[in-house]
Amino acid sequence: MKPDLLLLCPLFPATMTQLDAAYTVHRYYEADDKEAFVKGLADRVTATATAGHHGMSVELMRKFPKLKIVSCFGVGVDGIDVPAARQLGIAVTNTPDVLTECVADNALALVLATMRRTVFNDRFVRAGHWLKGNAPLADKVSGTSMGIIGLGRIGKAIAKRAEAFGMMIAYHSRNQQSGVTYRYYDKPLELARNVKVLVVACPGGKETENIVSSDVIAALGKDGYLVNVSRGTTIDEPALVDALANGRIAGAGLDVFVAEPKVPEALFKLDNVVLQPHVSSGTHWTRAAMGQLVVDNLAAYFAGKPLLTQV
Ligand code: NAP
Repeated sequence: MKPDLLLLCPLFPATMTQLDAAYTVHRYYEADDKEAFVKGLADRVTATATAGHHGMSVELMRKFPKLKIVSCFGVGVDGIDVPAARQLGIAVTNTPDVLTECVADNALALVLATMRRTVFNDRFVRAGHWLKGNAPLADKVSGTSMGIIGLGRIGKAIAKRAEAFGMMIAYHSRNQQSGVTYRYYDKPLELARNVKVLVVACPGGKETENIVSSDVIAALGKDGYLVNVSRGTTIDEPALVDALANGRIAGAGLDVFVAEPKVPEALFKLDNVVLQPHVSSGTHWTRAAMGQLVVDNLAAYFAGKPLLTQV
């Protein structure tokens, strides 16, 4: 008999294949009658798999009194109340490290695409505008300054790449870090005042909601750029849209949005913004590695071994 596994949302296809091979997978998202579905499994299910964007509510956790593990596909667990899970005796695992490089790569892609107007220029050529004249000039990236909110695994990987561009790097997080030479600001506002491009790489959730406030956006100013690869919630989105539309900030590169996949339509007609559909970890290699960690954490749990990446 294969153990039972509750799957809350679809995952990377190869991961689903592995899960189906090892477990009797109960697909919550396919159940028409969720209540009956839960009732039928409540006293059997000890393990769940979900994704960062989907999470798992405390209400749903409570419906499975034997639940012991939530294995999350993604490093951001803002969709899961981890302290509440802990109190219920449920371990939460995530997929750190394996996605760091790709998220940092995409952050730099957004910095470059936004400041050098790469996407705008692509449209410029395709529309035949080049035949009528040259494209407007862009902003220099190399040798300018980058501020990073959240100098964790991803933030440090972004900094390393920016160093190769000769950028001056500064950061904000709750704690100043030993072992880095980058300038620390204990307030995001001060950081924004002193950099050309601000990159957000901290976790989402209540604590960082609107950490990039309208004041931070104003401090960045009409010559400043903002890049977000964290969560949509970290930015005051209406304030950003307004600032972009009215030229009070030079540009923004956004991979994440408050109500994704819904993106504020006002952004669609703006040339100073580059939009991505939350794909910073979206490469074949990284998604496969993330899925493997989901699988390995579940296997460790069922084998009674220590979990690999418990939050
Ligand atoms: P990490 O290693 O835990 O780093 C998080 C950093 O944020 C730490 O330096 C932490 O420093 C700082 N931080 C935490 N709370 C903060 C707060 N309230 N105010 C200011 N700084 C705060 O995490 P990671 O692996 O780098 O991942 C970071 C985030 O990236 C994830 O949580 C996720 O939301 C996002 N992400 C996005 C994608 C995507 O596809 N766009 C993919 C993967 C990850 P202190 O503890 O000193 O504050």
